[in-house]
Amino acid sequence: MTTLPILMYHSVAADPDPQVLDLSVHPADFGAQLEVLREEGFTTMTFGEVRAALAGETELPARPVVLTFDDGYADFHREALPRLIAHRTSATLFVTTGWLADAGPFASGRPLDDTLTWEQVGDVDAAGVEIGAHSHSHPQLDQLPGDLLREELTTSRELLEEQLGHRVTSLAYPYGYSSRRVREAAAAAGYQHAAAVANTAAGATSSTYAVPRLTVDRSTDLARFRRIVAQQDLGALYLRQRVLTAGYAAVRRSRSAARTWCRLG
Ligand SMILES: [Zn+2]
Repeated sequence: MTTLPILMYHSVAADPDPQVLDLSVHPADFGAQLEVLREEGFTTMTFGEVRAALAGETELPARPVVLTFDDGYADFHREALPRLIAHRTSATLFVTTGWLADAGPFASGRPLDDTLTWEQVGDVDAAGVEIGAHSHSHPQLDQLPGDLLREELTTSRELLEEQLGHRVTSLAYPYGYSSRRVREAAAAAGYQHAAAVANTAAGATSSTYAVPRLTVDRSTDLARFRRIVAQQDLGALYLRQRVLTAGYAAVRRSRSAARTWCRLG
């Protein structure tokens, strides 16, 4: 079965806010990663193009790879976009609409670093980068009651569609957290597919509303990057992240169980 690496980036910056440093990639490293993709004959696709390919409606290229960027940090416009354009690389940017620098009356949540303006999101869209939604205020969607969950999913899609003047069909869950209820809400809110984290490769058996992605961050040197895109030993490469994720999941489950118990009590 064909699988493909879907990479998850956040900030691309030399000196980001310390809160996003671990999640960020240095612009020089990002440029070198794009160079590796070019040298090794990869074809980049948007996340939106992946759904049709995994459903068998279109052919996957010979060496497909997808670059996705979460949150909508200002450095995407300054650092990532010019490099993507220079390398003719497709990409998808998942925007947290309430975090945008000029969200105005719609401002919601607390961004971890400087974020894009609406005009810059328009520039990114016009440059051919796919714009997807990343919720409105970046909550843990699986912890929200139904009405707030619907609002988070719908507000971000509607604001993006209104500003860009076309449909927005891709979603990435904040922190990658979803549950069956969240995935059903994403489908009901008009998204065609959604990205999780999971740190494994995506393939035909991936759930349409929990397409796995692979983390690329400050600790990703070029040797590791080459192994990630070649899908070599992903289990070993991401062992630490998987253990951490499983640990968080257990903590979050017990917290949520404690809350339920308190409410019942
Ligand atoms: Zn995020």
